[in-house]
Amino acid sequence: MCLKEEVICNPSYCQYARDYYDKVDREKLLEKTAKLAQRVNLSEEIFKKLGEKYEVCPFELSLDSIENADLVIGDYNYVFSPRNTLGRFTHSLSKDYQKPNLVIDEAHNLPGRACDYFSKGLSSAHIVESVGDLSSLNVTEQIKLRSLLSETLFAISSVGKVAGKKEAKVTISPQLFDKIRTELTALMLERMKGKGNAISTQMQSLSLSSSSKVSGSSNSSNASNSSNESVASNASSRSATAASSGAAATFASQSASQLPLLAALAPINSLPLFEVMSPLNSTQPETLPNSSINPSPSINSNSSPSAPLRKIQDPIILLANYLSDFQEALSYEGEAYLHLYTKNRAYGKRDFGESYDECLRVVCCDASDRLRLAHKEFAHVVAFSATIKPFEYFGKLCGFDEGYSCREYFSPFPKENRKILVIPQVSTKFSDRERNYEKIAEAILRLTSRKIGNYFVFFPSFAFLEEVYKRTSKLYENSEFRLLKQESEISKARAKEVIESLNQGLPTIVFAVQGGVFAEGVDYPGDMLIGALIVGPGLPNFNFEREQIRNYYEKQYGQGFDYAYVYPAMAKVIQAAGRVIRSGTDRGLIVLMDKRFTEGTYLAAMPADWHGGSVNNLVSNSLVKDIDCFWSSFGQDF
Ligand code: SF4
Repeated sequence: MCLKEEVICNPSYCQYARDYYDKVDREKLLEKTAKLAQRVNLSEEIFKKLGEKYEVCPFELSLDSIENADLVIGDYNYVFSPRNTLGRFTHSLSKDYQKPNLVIDEAHNLPGRACDYFSKGLSSAHIVESVGDLSSLNVTEQIKLRSLLSETLFAISSVGKVAGKKEAKVTISPQLFDKIRTELTALMLERMKGKGNAISTQMQSLSLSSSSKVSGSSNSSNASNSSNESVASNASSRSATAASSGAAATFASQSASQLPLLAALAPINSLPLFEVMSPLNSTQPETLPNSSINPSPSINSNSSPSAPLRKIQDPIILLANYLSDFQEALSYEGEAYLHLYTKNRAYGKRDFGESYDECLRVVCCDASDRLRLAHKEFAHVVAFSATIKPFEYFGKLCGFDEGYSCREYFSPFPKENRKILVIPQVSTKFSDRERNYEKIAEAILRLTSRKIGNYFVFFPSFAFLEEVYKRTSKLYENSEFRLLKQESEISKARAKEVIESLNQGLPTIVFAVQGGVFAEGVDYPGDMLIGALIVGPGLPNFNFEREQIRNYYEKQYGQGFDYAYVYPAMAKVIQAAGRVIRSGTDRGLIVLMDKRFTEGTYLAAMPADWHGGSVNNLVSNSLVKDIDCFWSSFGQDF
């Protein structure tokens, strides 16, 4: 909803933040939005138009207008993220009758989204790749930042050395990056002194929480900030000199072979890295004659505060941001937060050669305690989804207290419009896959040949999709069906194009992945889709991290494998299957291919009206006959 090129919510950069409250009061904007809301739903577009007209921040105006709203629709972020924006209204409400109610749609996504909010990682390759462009800094700053970068990489590496393995559960001290962060702050303050508004604006923005993006008394608040910063600046720059010398000494003492990732960076002013680093204590000119390092115009002290800042990716701020986010995650306590170390070959846009990427991760595998706290700010909480079984699993991980009430409603659409079958003769287990590719391709041909139309085949992974696609394509040579497949990096525009093409009357089979852009959050009404063939439950990748999560669930809930693998996979299966029937007049076929779909744990995750309590209702002894019978029940001519 931002009207600027870059979200820097500081009055010295953003005119929409400047004198925000004065403008809102003067123009009586809250009364205006309240009146407007009686006629129309206040959408993002409306707030943007108001923002442009009155030169106020539309995002802030939308938040301020909430007090007059009966209904607010927003992303989970607004309630559940660590900096939940709605908290500014709900924190102070202590009585139930004062509190709003909360309705959580697509609640099957909540446990995963919430865990993501509280999980953070630090990857050495990613840091080098994203922070590595130092060209906007002067030579002294480059030298200091390189030193801090190397210290950061060594800090990450030091955890690996203690772990002594490529993958390990570790304990990372919350103080691990304290010294580096202090020095980064000093470096930022030094840079502010030298480079004026733009960098100062970015830095101030970093310190603003989302709930205080636009201060209620912006002028006075900024004035006081400035004086505080000035005092801090003097104190910090003195300590920074000593600290950065120490850091540089540490850095200079490392051999190039110990810093293979940093070797991927361009040398400072084209000088070899260690020639530049070694005379660090001698006086360095701010910029060298004929220097190739030209400060970006927008970082120049003469630049206008309103100059476009999108290009500013200040490396000092980037590194400070990464460390600050990670350190915040390190402060989360409890068994649900795992500290992990991994070391793998480094890949990225830069050429990392033979280097390794070392990663530290704080993995939140259960955010239920956080969610429980968030729920307390509401009088009543209702969560729903078509994919929220088993209830016990979702209830626990969504943070609902014992004794919450739960209901299952059957599909309101005619049951006879849908045929659900399991093909247990197929196995998609990793060890069996290769033997089953051909069988799956033949099953696709048999199933789709019973009625011409549009089908999706949903796979657990792109690699699996590709193998079956290759084999299926041969079987469909000279067929009236068109075959399409989802690419691993599909653009929104291309996805839209594929979806729209399903309306063209050309029978199409789309090979797609479960959990992907074609499998969730999209409707295919009427004849756009007459069948979904689901190839196996796409269990999450079996890897070190997932196994640690499984251990946690086993210890906590006694169902490690089901919680870590089966239920998340089944949520995707049911979402994909749910694409077929979206209205009372849709008709379609849903086929689940894998023996595991007949097992109790998998059945427990299905809607009860799929199987009516017995797996026998899903397995057919005469598949083709049953499918023909289903289609012919609509009087279709075969
Ligand atoms: S205050 Fe922030 S969000 Fe609002 S318009 Fe300005 S930069 Fe964008």
